[in-house]
Amino acid sequence: TCGICVEKCPFDAIEIINLPQELNEDPVHRYGDNAFALYGLPVPEPGKVTGILGPNGIGKSTAVKALAGEITPNLGIYDEDPNWDAVLDRFRGTELQNYINKLIADDITVARKPQYVDQIPKQFSGNTRELLEHTDERGVLDELIDRLNIRPVMDQDIDSISGGELQRVAIAACLARDADFYFLDEITPYLDIGQRMTAARLIQELAADEESDRSMLVVEHDLAILDLLADTLHVAYGEPGAFGVITPPKSVRNGINEYLKGYLTNENMRIRQEAITFEEHAPRESFTGQPLVEYPSLSKSYGEGEFSLDVEGGLIYESEVLGIVGPNGIGKSTLAKLFTGALEPDEGSVDFELDISYKPQYIEIDQPMRVDAFLSTITDEFGSSYWNTEVANPLQLNRIMEQNLTDLSGGERQRVAIAACLSQDADLYLLDEPSAHLDVEQRVQATTAIRRYAENHDATVMVIDHDIYMIDLLADRLMVFDGEPAHHGHATPPQGMRDGMNEFLADLDITFRRDERTGRPRINKPESQKDQSQKRSGEYYYSV
Ligand code: ADP
Ligand code: ADP
Ligand code: MG
Repeated sequence: TCGICVEKCPFDAIEIINLPQELNEDPVHRYGDNAFALYGLPVPEPGKVTGILGPNGIGKSTAVKALAGEITPNLGIYDEDPNWDAVLDRFRGTELQNYINKLIADDITVARKPQYVDQIPKQFSGNTRELLEHTDERGVLDELIDRLNIRPVMDQDIDSISGGELQRVAIAACLARDADFYFLDEITPYLDIGQRMTAARLIQELAADEESDRSMLVVEHDLAILDLLADTLHVAYGEPGAFGVITPPKSVRNGINEYLKGYLTNENMRIRQEAITFEEHAPRESFTGQPLVEYPSLSKSYGEGEFSLDVEGGLIYESEVLGIVGPNGIGKSTLAKLFTGALEPDEGSVDFELDISYKPQYIEIDQPMRVDAFLSTITDEFGSSYWNTEVANPLQLNRIMEQNLTDLSGGERQRVAIAACLSQDADLYLLDEPSAHLDVEQRVQATTAIRRYAENHDATVMVIDHDIYMIDLLADRLMVFDGEPAHHGHATPPQGMRDGMNEFLADLDITFRRDERTGRPRINKPESQKDQSQKRSGEYYYSV
């Protein structure tokens, strides 16, 4: 047990070595008897971007509701009427005192970007223009529309635009408001790296606006973007659904490093058994594997004047993990469909006899069936201790086995789909954007599961993703897409990580340095000395 429950842990909790000090105190809020309890609150700071790093279900939305004044924290006493004076007493002398004073004086307005943008079309009918026109409280909407590249979909119905477009519209709608406190619950889902950087920059600019005292709070699971975006960071940990602890603010660098290490120094708290480590040097380009398949150059166009894709022929090895990177709308999913045979190329032919197990980008598993029933139709191994260790446990499926596929959240559906993909017998596993909807801890575990699976099965895996940390941890080699999104795409043959990253990042004009302590990649400030010298030497990623 983790020390919180006296008897056997009802949550299958990972081993928490010592009881967090915060848990000896009363929580900030508890929903009821034996219900979720939140310890600690994030501190919004005027002029700053505050980040929160941690899993879903840990109380982030609860904390924001408190900071927005929508719920009055009950300090753990859920059977009496809560009041703000008690809360103020509790936080007197802390960094939150000023904020709470203002909140009590009814002085704080809040703008919010919801986590699941997919839900927006269910709540709003009309086109993009109609959705945005009521939000323009600062008179900056036109600029936001241009910088987020929303103009092409202004007259399109909200229920017909893509996930990435919806995400950008939702970010614009939030940032256009005139508020004191902005809360953005994940900005990166469905966005490519260039779009993620743009969104991050807009948030920073709004915080830095000298004529106002706005504070920004951002939850983000893409660590490279979080690192770039936030000024200070709260790590959140605990047991999703049971309790959550939000640490006092840390420096962003330390917060992420401690998170990756799995140990929070000030809190003296182990949050994971194993550290996550990065390779500072590109892996050697020698492969012990045999060639799996050599494919010819391919081309495909969706019709006269529509998107066209050219793929250079190449060689894929057995038991390698091939990362696939490139902007949105450049043909990555189209290539996946050419490989699986769902699409026929116009030139070249895909005649390899490979069994391919494919996880598409947009997952449609909506049969009225339980998760366990569904997965047992896919593999005879279902429920074996081997399958549990390799697939079910790292993907945290145990808690959702009895749920219906139709009731799953985005992240739950993603984990079931990854499990289904890996559970098939195949020569090649192709995963299109497995990080989407996963929180940071689930990304780490999914990465480990995919990597281990490839190693133990001599399986070849192709992974399309925009999360650089995930690609770094997963891939042996890279396939890079470039071109002009929505018009024309071009795919290189698989190449080594160093060459692939250089080609990909040169296109984006981004360089990475290494964190001195952990070796993790960090995006350089544009025009900084490191940025300039790395660009001169052509080393965009493996700079040492
Ligand atoms: P996060 O934003 O980190 O995903 P939330 O703050 O939304 O987490 O939820 C944390 C936990 O609190 C969840 O287990 C959720 O089911 C529970 N919870 C949220 N709202 C209520 C409520 N009104 N009553 C009881 N439990 C709730
Ligand atoms: P990516 O996966 O890199 O985001 P896709 O391969 O999904 O890109 O799409 C590339 C381009 O082709 C996009 O502009 C998309 O709108 C277009 N496209 C995709 N499928 C079709 C289709 N069936 N008919 C016409 N255009 C399509
Ligand atoms: Mg795609």
